[in-house]
Amino acid sequence: MSSTKSYAVHSATTPLTPWTLDRRDPKPHDVQLEILFCGVCHSDLHFARNDWGISIYPVVPGHEIIGRVIAVGGHVKKFKVGDIAGIGCLVDSCRECDNCKEGLEQYCFGGAVFSYNGTEKDGSGLTYGGYSKEILCHEDFVLRISDKQPLEAVAPLLCAGITTYSPLRHWKVGKGQKVAILGLGGLGHMGVKLAASMGAEVTVLSHTASKAADAKRLGAHKFILTTDEEQAKSVANYFDLILDTVSAEHDYNFYLGMLRTNGTMVCVGVPPPSPPVGAFNLIFQRRSLAGSLIGGLPETQEMLDYCAEHNIVSDVEVIAMKDINKAYERLLKGDVKYRFVIDMATL
Ligand code: NAP
Ligand code: ZN
Ligand code: ZN
Repeated sequence: MSSTKSYAVHSATTPLTPWTLDRRDPKPHDVQLEILFCGVCHSDLHFARNDWGISIYPVVPGHEIIGRVIAVGGHVKKFKVGDIAGIGCLVDSCRECDNCKEGLEQYCFGGAVFSYNGTEKDGSGLTYGGYSKEILCHEDFVLRISDKQPLEAVAPLLCAGITTYSPLRHWKVGKGQKVAILGLGGLGHMGVKLAASMGAEVTVLSHTASKAADAKRLGAHKFILTTDEEQAKSVANYFDLILDTVSAEHDYNFYLGMLRTNGTMVCVGVPPPSPPVGAFNLIFQRRSLAGSLIGGLPETQEMLDYCAEHNIVSDVEVIAMKDINKAYERLLKGDVKYRFVIDMATL
């Protein structure tokens, strides 16, 4: 065991505070990182506040991790000391089920191990995430990072990037398709950049009028203020795909009406509690409501390489570790452009 400094939350109603945690001993296939940057995902906030009722305290959030390799086990082939590398939302899975064999580790039937609030397969205890100085995991769950892009702006790709890239690929988004990104936050702004880069006509559906100019700058062709009845009506039966990234309770039925015949709304946002769905909204126009969870390791690497090739990064506001609680309050208000990233040198 080795101790490492971190910020943890100990209950749903208390702020994050400094905490020393013990990491398990490294194994022959493990890569150990000194964390340089960690993005702040809204899921971190959901877990900190126990919004989904599944938090196990203390929680050390953070799953958009970029670091420098400081040690490798004897069997590690992919990385060497000094490399820059990434760890996203997953640190292990069963490796044997059909999904794992296909590189869909996020849907592992044996139970994927998430970077925090998860349980290590070897029984060594809970996983703790990236709001910490050091982390380690099996090399298969460590990603290669391009040295051509600013690292703080690459960090959010490890969750916000892959969570939007994966459904856009799965539903074969491209030229000639009309795609809506619902909610312009951390996931949403990556969804806009990625969908636009794939050639789709991109519309931002937002409840914040002041984001219109940013939506266009990020690559959207249209902006619809969803609280404006006329604007909302103008996109009735319009979209092939809606990617719903909203973190708070909202009316699915209102947005389902914006899908054309055979259109699909993909939920990636996880509002507590889950909104009710009217079957008629699906039946008329043969619409689908779907969900998607982050992405597997091969697709995450593919997305990182794609972003390096197409010069896509996240728009970030770098913060000091001590300001994390203020950042959470701002995240709740939607006051972030468009991802907070913690400079871990400040821990
Ligand atoms: P975020 O940066 O806070 O963005 C969420 C956006 O939702 C806001 O910017 C806002 O956009 C919109 N919104 C917030 N409150 C709203 C309300 N009351 N009504 C309508 N719209 C509202 O959050 P994020 O980090 O992108 O995460 C978004 C959600 O995805 C979270 O629930 C998170 O847990 C989930 N998530 C899921 C996965 C997955 O694998 N499926 C992965 C990562 C995160 P506008 O101001 O433009 O309306
Ligand atoms: Zn996340
Ligand atoms: Zn599996």
